[in-house]
Amino acid sequence: MATNILVLAEHDHGQLKQATLSAVAFAAKVIAEAGGTFDILVIGHQLSVTAEALIHYGAATVLVADHVRLEHPLADKYAQVISGIVQARGVTMVVGSASTFSKDILPRAAALVDSGMVSDVIDVRKDGASWVFRRVMFAGNVIATVQLDGPVKFLTVRAAAFTHPSKQGPSSPLENITIEADQLPSLSGYVGREAKLAGRPDSTEAQVVVSGGRGIKSAEDFERLIGGLADALGGAVGSSRALVDAGVTPNSLQVGQTGKIVAPSLYIAVGISGAIQHLAGMKDTKVIVAINKDAEAPIFEIADFGLVADIYEAVPQLIAKLNAR
Ligand SMILES: Cc1cc2nc3c(=O)[nH]c(=O)nc-3n(C[C@H](O)[C@H](O)[C@H](O)COP(=O)(O)OP(=O)(O)OC[C@H]3O[C@@H](n4cnc5c(N)ncnc54)[C@H](O)[C@@H]3O)c2cc1C
Repeated sequence: MATNILVLAEHDHGQLKQATLSAVAFAAKVIAEAGGTFDILVIGHQLSVTAEALIHYGAATVLVADHVRLEHPLADKYAQVISGIVQARGVTMVVGSASTFSKDILPRAAALVDSGMVSDVIDVRKDGASWVFRRVMFAGNVIATVQLDGPVKFLTVRAAAFTHPSKQGPSSPLENITIEADQLPSLSGYVGREAKLAGRPDSTEAQVVVSGGRGIKSAEDFERLIGGLADALGGAVGSSRALVDAGVTPNSLQVGQTGKIVAPSLYIAVGISGAIQHLAGMKDTKVIVAINKDAEAPIFEIADFGLVADIYEAVPQLIAKLNAR
């Protein structure tokens, strides 16, 4: 059977998430090996700009499921749209980025078509007629090799594992998916959203992430030192769990096993010891810089550049130098 892949695009009220391009890269890798085609599916409301942004990546078609009842990413409704497309078009693989968005929606869609799911995929290869996936488990300490039974394979891929494809000329036609609104499940409804204040990029999307740990003593210091350094570099802020538990930073900033997984070009760990649960969220970074007053801190074992210094002295100097450029 020809490989027919459906890539689920992720966006935030129309703003395309860059991690979508890792899922596209995965799809391109699979069809380069086995032949076939991939489509990209975008679900939401008022999607013309988002859909246009997706026509440059070699998809056979960009499918647009646009309806007011799909304005917010409610998993029961999105999963039904996906399962309908899978059944109608003979899709053999469905892929999304390894984000909370895809991890919320894709397992439900998989269940609706009685298929299996594998998360956090970092590599794929063909073994005879089967596909073999490598995925990270246990905070990155174990790499599992898995196969999925069943006609359709659902998976999420780690952003750092698949290099974003470059933009080509506009090549993919758009196709609107008809939504039978009264057939959509109403198990959940949208109540409201508490969004972080705009200004800094999201840590999962940013090229530079500056994270603070227990070495920071207060929310004011966090904003001045971590926020200041991030702003000087045009980056995002992150936090260790120690600061979240201490009430210094909100949970949404936590990086790690039970927080966000980030893979920027540059990660600066400020006053962070380097516990394994923290490393699980950032060790795919290209260049890691650590600032810590303890020369024996484990973070230095994985850092590309280390500065043994008191952050209250070093970081203001760094900010001043960067801002003076
Ligand atoms: C199931 C589970 C899940 C977890 N999930 C996560 C997770 O997702 N993310 C996460 O981060 N943690 C997680 N943790 C917690 C993790 O084990 C660590 O406790 C946490 O990461 C420690 O945070 P920290 O490095 O900020 O603090 P610490 O380990 O206390 O380190 C603070 C560091 O700051 C340095 N320092 C202090 N003052 C200064 C100064 N003035 N100048 C320079 N350096 C200074 C110290 O030398 C030290 O190295 C999890 C734990 C468990 C059990």
